[in-house]
Amino acid sequence: MDITAHAFKANAKAALGDAQLQRALSGLPGGLVAQRTAARAKLPEFEALRDIGRDIKNHTLANLDLYLEAWETKARAAGAHVHWAPTAADARQIILDICQAANARIVTKGKSMISEEVGLNAHLQAAGMEVVETDLGEYLVQIRKETPSHIIAPAIHLTQDQVEQDFRRLHTHLPRDRVLSEAPQLVDEARQILRQKFISADVGITGANFLIAETGSSVIVTNEGNGDLTQSLAKTHIVIASIEKVVPTLEDVSTLIRLLARSATQEISTYTTFSTGPRRPGDTDGPENYHVVILDNGRTALLGTPFREALRCIRCGACMNHCPVYGAVGGHAYGFVYPGPIGAVINPAIIGLKEAAHLPNASTFCGRCESVCPMKIPLPKLMRDWRTLEFADGGGTLAARAGLKLWAYFARRPRVYHMAARLGITALGLAGRSRGAFRWLPLAGAWTRHRDMPAPQGQTFQQLWAEHKAGVPR
Ligand code: SF4
Repeated sequence: MDITAHAFKANAKAALGDAQLQRALSGLPGGLVAQRTAARAKLPEFEALRDIGRDIKNHTLANLDLYLEAWETKARAAGAHVHWAPTAADARQIILDICQAANARIVTKGKSMISEEVGLNAHLQAAGMEVVETDLGEYLVQIRKETPSHIIAPAIHLTQDQVEQDFRRLHTHLPRDRVLSEAPQLVDEARQILRQKFISADVGITGANFLIAETGSSVIVTNEGNGDLTQSLAKTHIVIASIEKVVPTLEDVSTLIRLLARSATQEISTYTTFSTGPRRPGDTDGPENYHVVILDNGRTALLGTPFREALRCIRCGACMNHCPVYGAVGGHAYGFVYPGPIGAVINPAIIGLKEAAHLPNASTFCGRCESVCPMKIPLPKLMRDWRTLEFADGGGTLAARAGLKLWAYFARRPRVYHMAARLGITALGLAGRSRGAFRWLPLAGAWTRHRDMPAPQGQTFQQLWAEHKAGVPR
């Protein structure tokens, strides 16, 4: 994919002016947000589960090498081929080699953000293979030559009308007078198309929500059943997963799945499928070959840093569903695979802080993301940590850096700070007395371009607080 995280400001501006996108995003509060609220309300022990989930992941990350080795031993014993991919390029090449060895012409895929991260589709297509996304949302963005705009709802930026238009443009072999005005009719049509692909596929590729060290299994959690058809009908099944997907036991996975489903869309996902090696004698279905490609791509380097907390992420999407910035600009504005608050934290680690520096700055710091995150990842703190690193690396505009230095000067000298605040407030109060607000202020153009800045009235907060503590009546 073309990475445009460096152009976040321009992307966001275009998104805000896109009426169709704004219509599509307006469904977020009544959709995914309301669904999570309802599902969470039916689980009284949800908060206790969050603590347990966080502890499971923290323990696993502290012993990641041991659990990955334990998983590999069990997976190989079950007949899996295990491949370690330090970089995205390694992962692409390993998967291309497996597909070519299988003489693959058609490759079906379940939804996998890791495959998006490594740019897998383009690599296989360049080698002459037909790659078909089988998750409905992924299929919709693929036929539009777009990328997913959400990690669990890839086509959330599209309206039903757009989907109908795309199907009529693309599925020209179907009757022109067919009715496609209802969502089930669109789903039926996609099913018709995709069933043929499942049957003819030579290789099926899926991601993995979890890898289980105790059993050597990979786990996918889906709602459409496309992942199961992808992995069981083709002769070769390839799983692509990143290192932090491993967890110790089946019981741990059960706990995390309870959190995942409710944080994403509903009480329980429709399909939760465990794969342990290829088809065995007596099995009625399943692949003859089962490969697992484990991607690092910069994650090991996070383990010894504060950003390791982001590796607890189970990709539920709750943080972006509740983020006012994501809700205003959608996922494509972030310019890389992972949008929203979790994207603002992990994208700089994957594509570099220079490319992704805008993302940790694109936050109101309202804290909703952290409050809904099932794994209790301190997302606002981690965004602040990236800002600190950006400043230390000499990033940011000259004006922003000068402003921060000036503020730091006063912040280190509380008495001078309070005096300057009192003087500034008094001066601004006098200057804005006639209108009660400013249409323009030096150094505040980003605010006054879009709305008036209210003129200060009365005392500073510190003055009011001092009087409150002294018991001054009001
Ligand atoms: S950071 Fe938390 S809320 Fe966001 S996707 Fe990951 S687990 Fe879900």
